[in-house]
Amino acid sequence: MKLAICQDNTFSFNCLGDDHALASPKKFKRKKDGTKTRGEIIHGDDSESENESKGKKLDDVRDLPLGHIDYSSYRSVFRNHPYLLHIWSNLPPPRAPQQINQPAALKIKLLPFQREGVKWMVDQEDTLFNGGILADEMGMGKTLQTIALMLVNHMRPTLVICPTVALLQWKAEIEAATDALSVFVFHGDERDKLVAKDRSIIKEELDKYDVLLTTYGVVETAYRREYHGYRRKGQLHHEKSPLHSVNWYRIVLDEAHYIKDRMTNSFRAMFSLNTQKTWMLTGTPLHNRLGELYALIRMTKSDPFSMYFCHSSPCSSLDWTFRGSKYCYKCGVKSILHFNYWNMHILKPIQNYPIDSVESRQGFKKLNKLLDNVMLRRTKIERADDMGLPPRVIVTRRDKFSPEEEDLYVSLFSDYQREFETYAHHGTVLNNYANLFELITRMRLAANHPDLLRLKLNPNEKLGASSSDTLVCSLCNEEAEDPVLAKCRHVFCRVDAQMYVNGAPDSSTLRCPVCFALFDIDLTQAEMAKPKAPRISGGGGGGGSTTLYRRSIVNRIDMAHWKSSTKIEALVEELSQHRQGNANIKSIVFSQFVNFLDLIQWRLNRAGFSVCRLDGRMSPQQRNAVIQTFMTHPEYTVFLVSLKAGGVALNLTEASHVYLADCWWNPSVEVQAMDRIHRMGQYRPIKVTRIIIENSIESRIIALQVKKQLLVSSTIGRDKKSLNHLSSQDMQFLFTS
Ligand SMILES: [Zn+2]
Ligand SMILES: [Zn+2]
Ligand SMILES: [Zn+2]
Repeated sequence: MKLAICQDNTFSFNCLGDDHALASPKKFKRKKDGTKTRGEIIHGDDSESENESKGKKLDDVRDLPLGHIDYSSYRSVFRNHPYLLHIWSNLPPPRAPQQINQPAALKIKLLPFQREGVKWMVDQEDTLFNGGILADEMGMGKTLQTIALMLVNHMRPTLVICPTVALLQWKAEIEAATDALSVFVFHGDERDKLVAKDRSIIKEELDKYDVLLTTYGVVETAYRREYHGYRRKGQLHHEKSPLHSVNWYRIVLDEAHYIKDRMTNSFRAMFSLNTQKTWMLTGTPLHNRLGELYALIRMTKSDPFSMYFCHSSPCSSLDWTFRGSKYCYKCGVKSILHFNYWNMHILKPIQNYPIDSVESRQGFKKLNKLLDNVMLRRTKIERADDMGLPPRVIVTRRDKFSPEEEDLYVSLFSDYQREFETYAHHGTVLNNYANLFELITRMRLAANHPDLLRLKLNPNEKLGASSSDTLVCSLCNEEAEDPVLAKCRHVFCRVDAQMYVNGAPDSSTLRCPVCFALFDIDLTQAEMAKPKAPRISGGGGGGGSTTLYRRSIVNRIDMAHWKSSTKIEALVEELSQHRQGNANIKSIVFSQFVNFLDLIQWRLNRAGFSVCRLDGRMSPQQRNAVIQTFMTHPEYTVFLVSLKAGGVALNLTEASHVYLADCWWNPSVEVQAMDRIHRMGQYRPIKVTRIIIENSIESRIIALQVKKQLLVSSTIGRDKKSLNHLSSQDMQFLFTS
């Protein structure tokens, strides 16, 4: 090992592979010049810990953060917090997988990997993490494993917090899986009824159930009303949060990546719930996004990984103890002498040092060791045999514009091309990202159906788009689906904002497409509150309804003389072939554009198809009714789904064909759509068909996808994220004929 002395009191290690170094202090004699060496630094005059660690092999992670170290302050850290000396060496290696017996009260048979998962969860509740992160890939039964956990370790009550769209699905899954758990949905009318009651009754009521289901939005609102208060008639009121006054045995955060920013109110609302055990479920791989991962680690409230420590006193705390002051209110020491354990050991070494540096590699090793102890992730490919998943075939159907469509498209495209070339000529391509994004969107619309474009270009036809009870997305100019709010107070569909941000060449200088303020938006925020009345014409609007939205495009254009488009007819042809071959086949059609789904729906109805429709403007009850209808009524063979209808799993296993009616250069959006049916309970082979127009921007987007995919597979780790962005070369490529 090489020890590089930098200044009097600092030094750095610059090699790996000295596993025994820390544990064998005798190796490090004081140097002749009197400089202190590492053995002394760590153990100092604390002979007890020296004895304890003698002869013990340190795993390949160190308890000292690497890099430039002020040893004098580290000595005091270990003197003040002696147990920190052995944190990394004491973390056990991953437990060998074991299977739990099928719980008697569980009516659904667990697959082998699920029995392993449940066993892991049961054991995990007895570790210092008191729970953990179940990160199995989407569609592997995280919900079922969690239900099994509740049955095996039957301590109560459990609070399950999930996105609105998954609320009723949780209820249905628990009820289908067991009779042994009583469930209450704390949301909407049921919540309102309960909250209107007397406080003592609320607690009593909540106490009756084994499982309470609620949403992130409800918990956050309850927290805000208690801690920050709310204004009514100019007066500030505080309302005690019923959810925060219960002592939960366990909380389960479903789609836990929703709380990935620990500075948000949403995080604080979940963090301040009283619970003994905490579970987070997510199918999103979290590597590469350390801040988000830390939000989940911190949520476990584990010591020391979630904590802050003082260098020069025994003070340690779960919370940041100096808001607004230079001094810690617990120990009186300056705030800068406190550190966050995660930042010190993992975040800083990885973020502040080059990827192949000793510091960064140590940081990653620690990260992996920590994850081995707190997270379980399996993928469908790994467990394909267990799951019995059928093969998935992906094909691209390429059609050409009709001459009439092509004329229109070409004239449009040459206008846009000129605009692009002007920017390119002035070197302002990157500054004009918002404009170019819109041009790309228009070309995508033109490839679907020219009417979509005419509607866009003529704002006078946007009836009612700005009526006050509607949240209008500033990117697609439609009633926002799954709406989110930017700092500048403009509203967007979550998916639109995501695509806008992802595509941006440089997200730090990205501006709002409307007001040109710097674009600051939390894409993981809870869904904004929407007006209560559903905007559906006709009675009920629930299951299988083919009624259209009042503002549907078919009510805004002259459908009597309407002409279909090449793409719509391609879809009709595909679906008609299924109908002739086997009437039982069900298909899902995804599109990002709600007006396009309107046109498809109108056309399919005329062709005699019974169609279900799901989009992000429906209430949870409506969504649930539609999904149930599609799954239980054989006559409904086509399900039109908006890509924006919330990024969460829908158990649509009744369908075996997926059509992607438009494409995007970031394939993860498409993959997520496909995953919705490629999941448990799906035994028929699945075919995914992309329908694209060959002589349009779509074939360019597909080519770009392929190129980016190649880059992803040849790049390691960190740079993946930047591949979502469009470089100016990428844009050049899209605007070249
Ligand atoms: Zn302190
Ligand atoms: Zn939108
Ligand atoms: Zn704005």
